[in-house]
Amino acid sequence: MNLLIETKNLTKRFGGLAAVNNVDFSIEKGRINAIIGPNGAGKSTFFNLISGFHRPTSGTVLFKGIDITKLPANEIAGLGISRTFQTTSLFDQSTVLDNVIVGHRLRTKSNLVDAILRTKRLKREEAACRDKAMEVLDIVGLTESADRMVSSISQEEKKRTAIALALATEPEIIFLDEPAAGINPDETEGLTELIKKLNRSGLTVCLIEHKMHMIMNLADHIMVLNYGEKIAEGTPKEIRGNEAVIKAYLGG
Ligand code: ADP
Ligand code: MG
Repeated sequence: MNLLIETKNLTKRFGGLAAVNNVDFSIEKGRINAIIGPNGAGKSTFFNLISGFHRPTSGTVLFKGIDITKLPANEIAGLGISRTFQTTSLFDQSTVLDNVIVGHRLRTKSNLVDAILRTKRLKREEAACRDKAMEVLDIVGLTESADRMVSSISQEEKKRTAIALALATEPEIIFLDEPAAGINPDETEGLTELIKKLNRSGLTVCLIEHKMHMIMNLADHIMVLNYGEKIAEGTPKEIRGNEAVIKAYLGG
């Protein structure tokens, strides 16, 4: 088995609350994984722990067998682990293209000043960055929207922009936090196709999503969190029939 990510006893406490509690989870290369569970179950926190946005209280995160638990977010991104955020944090008053270029830099450079100021080195990098940004915008189907202001694009286009931004670091694995939230069924269908396409091109995917129809169609492997704990994992078929899951989540 070819494991990309392994978490072992991964735990995050906020004060007295165990937002993520002793979670062991493995992500096999090439698969589409999903994490489901009620609101507040710890799904986004789990992503934050893997991507280095939060430090775990205890436990470890391995990437290809290497301990990345204590690495800063920009170094984790540099290793090929990328993510989107539940609430897209795009710059409204910039174009789609500039968001991808700037976002890419912010993710990979540890020095924000260096990333924002136009140093000589950055100027040299600019052309390459621009080409890369156009390439990922093409992949997500936003070539035509590259020069539009983010404030004028639809929610679905914002979701695609966020994915483009995550793709710009050329990840091996991408974590998507509710990529289909707030978009209509047709758009959800389109986004599902995009995720499948990315996966077919070799990208390993892990997504959080509430749209069960989408998950059941898309995921090879599902983990269910409830109150920070893993209560089940398996194929969509196994999860659908799981008593604990039905009780905690699907039946609710
Ligand atoms: P989910 O994404 O499954 O809806 P979250 O991971 O966002 O859940 O949150 C899990 C729990 O941790 C919730 O009870 C939430 O209020 C709490 N939590 C998340 N982030 C923080 C934080 N930065 N500080 C304190 N509590 C937090
Ligand atoms: Mg969340």
